[in-house]
Amino acid sequence: MTSFTPQVEMHPQRWGDPAAAAGLPDSARGLIEMAFGLTETPARADVSVPPTALSDELLDSLRAALGAEHVLVDDETRRLRTRGKSTPDLLRARAGDLSDAPDAVVRPGSHDDVAAVLAWAVRNHVAVVPFGGGTCVTGGLAARRDGYAGLVSLDLVRMKRLVSVDHESMTAVLEPGLRGPEAEALLAAEGVLLGHYPQSFEFATIGGFAATRSSGQSSAGYGRFDALVVGLRVATPRGEVRLGSAPANAAGPDLRQLFLGSEGAFGVITEVTVRVRRLPELKVYEGWRWESFAAGATAMRTLAQAGLLPTVLRLSDEAETAINLARPDEIGSQSTGGCLMITGYEGTSASVAAKRAAVTELLSGLGGDAVGEAAGEAWAHGRFNAPYLRDSLLDVGVLVETLETATFWSNREALYAAVKSALETTLGEGTLVLCHISHVYETGCSLYFTVATKESTDPSTPPLDQWLVAKAAANDAIVAAGATITHHHAVGTDHKPWLHHEIGELGVSVLRAVKADLDPTGVLNPGVLVP
Ligand SMILES: Cc1cc2nc3c(=O)[nH]c(=O)nc-3n(C[C@H](O)[C@H](O)[C@H](O)COP(=O)(O)OP(=O)(O)OC[C@H]3O[C@@H](n4cnc5c(N)ncnc54)[C@H](O)[C@@H]3O)c2cc1C
Repeated sequence: MTSFTPQVEMHPQRWGDPAAAAGLPDSARGLIEMAFGLTETPARADVSVPPTALSDELLDSLRAALGAEHVLVDDETRRLRTRGKSTPDLLRARAGDLSDAPDAVVRPGSHDDVAAVLAWAVRNHVAVVPFGGGTCVTGGLAARRDGYAGLVSLDLVRMKRLVSVDHESMTAVLEPGLRGPEAEALLAAEGVLLGHYPQSFEFATIGGFAATRSSGQSSAGYGRFDALVVGLRVATPRGEVRLGSAPANAAGPDLRQLFLGSEGAFGVITEVTVRVRRLPELKVYEGWRWESFAAGATAMRTLAQAGLLPTVLRLSDEAETAINLARPDEIGSQSTGGCLMITGYEGTSASVAAKRAAVTELLSGLGGDAVGEAAGEAWAHGRFNAPYLRDSLLDVGVLVETLETATFWSNREALYAAVKSALETTLGEGTLVLCHISHVYETGCSLYFTVATKESTDPSTPPLDQWLVAKAAANDAIVAAGATITHHHAVGTDHKPWLHHEIGELGVSVLRAVKADLDPTGVLNPGVLVP
């Protein structure tokens, strides 16, 4: 397939489908005004993209390699491929800063097209940024351009095929540009599913999931994305790499892991072979109430260590339970107190019934109160809404951002306290720090924080700097607590200064050696991931 089917594009200054933006719900307005005040903070509309740095000659040679219709230099297309969707990205876009806009957007239709773009980039020393859904929150789309003849966004939007399904082995080969819902719709027509539902599901892509080692809301049941990947095809400036010829192997270190999480710095992922499951007959979500975050966390650990994980398992702390982020229309409504846990089960009727009964027995025995399916269904219904709320809050001068980390169970409480304190101390009084346990393992869990604070009105500390200072303090606290700087958002440019704490100087040197071998002239995503 080489044609281009237009897709819904996200607003360049906001999250998500522009048609779905709802504004601040009335119920939330009063509460937010009380907590932070309301300061109308509109985004700048008069924003222009810098002129392309690529010469006509370079553009012509690119058009000759790919077809003129697949090389775009118009302002709007370049604007839509500028950076990702972190709050710093949005603040820059709202302030009219488009300095990271690519000089051109290229749309390859096949692995060979990608290889041709890379060969052109090497010949002409042009930086290449692979672009999937553009939902990155760690600066992974903001590559360096100094020292390069220009920078192109390699947009995978034309590579949206379900290449094949092996019903016997239960695997499927997908092209990287498929967004989450598109991949699931194609797989559903074959009676199977992937089961990867990050909050960015509607816009993020298969290639992006692999390149960032993403984790979804059902990862307790289906596994993180890297656990779903069986094989990869990658185009690098040095040639093609194909990996994953058997369900498991002992053929040296697993090189798939080198490309999973490589964030476009080692190659462009052009095909992903994934494990698939039969479509579930039944999906049930329900709520549990716990007296405290600690009691709920102990219950989660017990479930994980008993091998009894439901498909969905998450636990909000007291503050997040009170705010009820999953349901923006209900913010400000009465909280029942305590901490809300969501459990979800997907599978055959028999497997759902058996797992649910075992989990219910265990959770009841540990002091949890079942609060019924309504709470679970409400979470499932609203689970993709919170990012829209972030824009509505930015509109009224409230800075909102999220960050995540993970640690072993024995360190969970210390990490939670350290990150909360770092954020509250740097952002000051009135800052709201909410947390939930988003993913669990036998050995530990990830903590996902949401922060809301009044935007700085001090001209010497604009909101972007206000957040960057707080984020740095949180990262320092994470490192000091011995946890990971990222459980699923990846490294990008934002986490890069902290990477050496996690993998050591020798680890950094290994990454540099791999980069130098696969991308000797450094055209792939310069400045991203590799310190
Ligand atoms: C509101 C919101 C909610 C989110 N929720 C989650 C969540 O629940 N779980 C989670 O894990 N993440 C989450 N994220 C982060 C983000 O969605 C993930 O990192 C996602 O996997 C990125 O996919 P993408 O297709 O948008 O990639 P992009 O943003 O386009 O790219 C991400 C990085 O991968 C590189 N890349 C993209 N495609 C390829 C390719 N084919 N080959 C090589 N490199 C490539 C890019 O150059 C970039 O460095 C969220 C982000 C937002 C904004």
